[in-house]
Amino acid sequence: MNLRELTKKINIKGRLFFDEPMEKHTTFRIGGPADLFCIPEDIEDLKVFFSFCMEEDIPYFTLGAGANILVSDMGIRGAVIDLSLLNGIKFDGTYLSVSAGTLISEASRYAEEKSLTGMEFIYSMPGSTGGSLWMNARCYGRSVSDILDSAEILTENLTVRKYQAKREDFGYKVSPFRKMKGIIINASFRLSQGTKKEISEKMAQIKVDREKKGHFLFPSAGSVFKNNRDFGMPAGKIIEKTGLRGFTIGGAKVSDYHANIIVNTGGARASDVLRLIELVENRVFKQFGFKLEREILLAGQWQHGDRRF
Ligand SMILES: Cc1cc2nc3c(=O)[nH]c(=O)nc-3n(C[C@H](O)[C@H](O)[C@H](O)COP(=O)(O)OP(=O)(O)OC[C@H]3O[C@@H](n4cnc5c(N)ncnc54)[C@H](O)[C@@H]3O)c2cc1C
Repeated sequence: MNLRELTKKINIKGRLFFDEPMEKHTTFRIGGPADLFCIPEDIEDLKVFFSFCMEEDIPYFTLGAGANILVSDMGIRGAVIDLSLLNGIKFDGTYLSVSAGTLISEASRYAEEKSLTGMEFIYSMPGSTGGSLWMNARCYGRSVSDILDSAEILTENLTVRKYQAKREDFGYKVSPFRKMKGIIINASFRLSQGTKKEISEKMAQIKVDREKKGHFLFPSAGSVFKNNRDFGMPAGKIIEKTGLRGFTIGGAKVSDYHANIIVNTGGARASDVLRLIELVENRVFKQFGFKLEREILLAGQWQHGDRRF
């Protein structure tokens, strides 16, 4: 039975698409078709669709805001579950509870309205709350794990598991969620009361700083490589020293304003970006003996032969 036939078995309120171009769903504006693309309307929908994937043995990819992924030109085999409609924020006086599909920057904005301090650092970073937990996103000296109290995960057994955050489970842009099978559906943050004026000023400064650094000039997925203290300088500076700043393959370019960002100057293919990433890695290794660690995640089918669904 093909996917179109199989999906007749389920009834969800949300939307289903076949062969959906992933370039519409990534900040890179790159990516081939996903066999099946589902946007559950609420948590019940998500459970129905997720159990369908489990029962029919359809591989799934959980999509946040697509801000840290490079999806291959061949696209994604199986199902993509887009959580963008699972959004909502609540404050119960102690914890800020945020649904996984909510943009993390919106959660930061909500905290500001409530004069809650702690989330300013993440303001204006693209990405969903679930994706930011999974990545343990970090900027301006703080990580998501610094403010995370707990998370809820829809497991592959279709139970909802509560994870109580422990500092030792996290590292620099590393989270325990990577090892858990399932979908983060909610995050609970511990923030403290602050002064609205100070919170707003900090957020405004951060936004201006990102704009000045040219983060939003071209489609990208942010930093390509992680920084590593042992290298003695940020990855961007190391790459600059190889002379690759501004280097282009197809539509992909090592950004002129930040060498650790590769941008899509228009019509870039995932293969252009990947070749450029590999070129940077090889040059850095040759010149410095360092192996840069990728922060960007490759998603989808990169070699011919995978079964289409
Ligand atoms: C201009 C720009 C600037 C950026 N600056 C920064 C920065 O300063 N610091 C930083 O850390 N990152 C930065 N990034 C990268 C990106 O914003 C973060 O990594 C963000 O946390 C990704 O979230 P997302 O929802 O887009 O995740 P996606 O890219 O959609 O997914 C990333 C991974 O998380 C998984 N995932 C997503 N949601 C869930 C879920 N609910 N449950 C389980 N798994 C899930 C996906 O399957 C995938 O493996 C930047 C990106 C851009 C484009």
